[in-house]
Amino acid sequence: MYKNYIDGQWLDGASAHANVNPSDTTDIIGHYALADAAQAGQASAAAQAAAPRWAASTPQQRADALDKIGTELLARREELGLLLSREEGKTLPEGIGEVTRAGNIFKFFAGEALRQRGDKLASVRPGVEIEVTREPVGVVGIIAPWNFPMAIPAWKIAPALAYGNTVVFKPAELVPGCAWALAEIISRAGLPAGAFNLAMGRGSQVGQAMLDDRRIAGISFTGSVATGGRVAQAAAQRLAKVQLEMGGKNPMVVLNDADLEVAVECAVQSAFFSTGQRCTASSRLIVEEGIYARFVDRMQERTAALRIGHALDTGTDIGPVASGDQLEQDLRYLAIGREEGARLVCGGEHVTRATPGFYLTPAIFADCSNDMRICREEIFGPVAAIIPARNYEHALELANDTEFGLASGICSTSLKHIQHFKRHAQAGMVMVNVPTAGVDYHVPFGGRKGSSLGPREQGTFAAEFYTTVKTAYVAG
Ligand code: NAD
Repeated sequence: MYKNYIDGQWLDGASAHANVNPSDTTDIIGHYALADAAQAGQASAAAQAAAPRWAASTPQQRADALDKIGTELLARREELGLLLSREEGKTLPEGIGEVTRAGNIFKFFAGEALRQRGDKLASVRPGVEIEVTREPVGVVGIIAPWNFPMAIPAWKIAPALAYGNTVVFKPAELVPGCAWALAEIISRAGLPAGAFNLAMGRGSQVGQAMLDDRRIAGISFTGSVATGGRVAQAAAQRLAKVQLEMGGKNPMVVLNDADLEVAVECAVQSAFFSTGQRCTASSRLIVEEGIYARFVDRMQERTAALRIGHALDTGTDIGPVASGDQLEQDLRYLAIGREEGARLVCGGEHVTRATPGFYLTPAIFADCSNDMRICREEIFGPVAAIIPARNYEHALELANDTEFGLASGICSTSLKHIQHFKRHAQAGMVMVNVPTAGVDYHVPFGGRKGSSLGPREQGTFAAEFYTTVKTAYVAG
């Protein structure tokens, strides 16, 4: 039984649940505690009690703790990558890559802990000096989704601790294994009891209790738009600081002058790798008429060659869908696409393998129109919709015609169009001749419109959410 970590102690939950491998549903990874609302409250109380001490810690103490966590993640990347892939279903290289990223994030913020700076300004009034400094927010509640079970917790927990906040961390129900392993590493990093707490449990219980708890001064949430809306409302009601990263319906524009192989590689990687379960996945491929037929043919060929299988098998390109519920959602959208008149070029079949798992072949719909539901709603699976565009201007218009705004890509060799697209794509991140999914760990991450709310995550921009600014006026 894997327990919760509250106030420096490993505690049983109110109940427990089995963690099932989506590549093989007979493989139980372990039984994990589920906290209830009362235990979530205990975690908040512990974090509140620890807050003054951790806020007073020196930059060296914070840097040492974060560096230790990062070092251990990197040293154990293969073992933890295997756990990640076994639990979430992305392939082993993807799992190891994600743990590596998490380790690098902790190391980056170990450095940031040492680089906290302020400003000193002359006042407009004589004899007065002004200091602008940053202070911790207090207790930060971290609510994470299942699709990046190491990287997303890392990019929230590391800056929270680096800037002197204490943490209550609630992972998604589907991926307690990575959360527990990360918490176990953090528990040995030299933090005071209560500075970091793990409360595994259901969103409706632990998550909701965190939203309603006035001791939690800031909430950093990544997940679906529907839940994000609830988080924003709860935060607004009690005026808590909030940061939301939510869904996407990310376009990738392919112009006539694109290098076809580059475009197909970018599209296949972004749409289907990690089983399409990335908020930055390219789910809309917007293709100019002159290259359209060749692009569809080559996409079909390339996609048909992908090997769908057990996440831990050597040679697997695409692992299973992460859960039975997600598979049902993908199949529902495949049916909707057919009913809407989109042409299914390949894939979309729930297939069997040697072990019982949630295997789905990557699906391409061609001849789509941007007003179809499969082009407007996030499916969060290996399903790509190809939309024809008359020219660049039309492609840009289609790319921006969405309620989301996380990532937006273009494949082209025209400097003119690339420069124009960079400026006019309505997204937080623009990718040129690279996949929309797959980002660096030391630069800002986030979107606009319906994809994100509040300050950016990652890089030096993380300070915006995890600190509060103080302006001091000193007469001297
Ligand atoms: P989800 O919204 O179902 O769950 C996210 C988290 O919220 C989970 O920990 C869940 O337990 C919790 N939760 C659920 N109900 C709650 C409530 N009432 N109160 C508080 N917490 C609650 O999302 P998911 O299915 O885990 O993740 C997939 C979604 O995440 C997709 O929409 C994807 O695009 C998005 N995502 C976004 C980014 C990004 O950075 N923009 C990154 C990864 C995933």
